[in-house]
Amino acid sequence: MKPQEISSKSVLNGNGQLNGHVNSNGHLHVEDDHIFNGKIDTPMVEGAFDMSDEEKMDRIADKVADILSILGLDLTDDSLRDTPHRVAKMYVKEVFSGLNPANKPNVQMFANSYGYKRMLVERDITLHSYCEHHLVPIIGKVHVSYISNGHVIGLSKINRIVRHFAKRPQVQERLTEQIARELKNVLQTEDVAVVVDAEHFCVITRGIEDGQSSTVTSHFSGAFSDQKTREEFYRQLDLK
Ligand SMILES: [Zn+2]
Repeated sequence: MKPQEISSKSVLNGNGQLNGHVNSNGHLHVEDDHIFNGKIDTPMVEGAFDMSDEEKMDRIADKVADILSILGLDLTDDSLRDTPHRVAKMYVKEVFSGLNPANKPNVQMFANSYGYKRMLVERDITLHSYCEHHLVPIIGKVHVSYISNGHVIGLSKINRIVRHFAKRPQVQERLTEQIARELKNVLQTEDVAVVVDAEHFCVITRGIEDGQSSTVTSHFSGAFSDQKTREEFYRQLDLK
């Protein structure tokens, strides 16, 4: 997905805001069955990490085996034998590893010795996440911008932050907010913009089966609340 293609698919209006339903908290509400309750934190139970990863994988593998057996699959078949453990490992160690705060990237800040006080834009950051309503992939791009308040972080750290929050069952609006909140914490500035443009496999492969649409969500705060600043950001993304 090149940025140019976004403009033809996006739902951004002239103010750089999203069309759609914005609720009283200012959060976007996407149509279909994907309802975002406006809470930024991923809903977790207390003691979510009391159990070791190994125990979690064992228990999940049992449940996956149950599901496949109920569907009538023969788990003694060579091809299926290891699937329950493979899925369990994928959930705990890979695609949902971002649930565990212990896996959050440690981000070091540097003094901004170049005195670069203008907008920094990192665009087309690869996004691989999972829809928490169907547990199927969400894939797309994230574009991030900030204005340094005197500190900078390594560019790859922005990718790592995006990746960490993507590795959870997600709702795209919440993912957008979580990335923005973390960037603000790390960079110690409110001048942050995050745009997520993603395709949801639950829309592509089931339900409406629409392979053409993508969903755009955004967070603008601080200087990015100003329309001119947002326009400059969009210009940098080659968006109009
Ligand atoms: Zn879904």
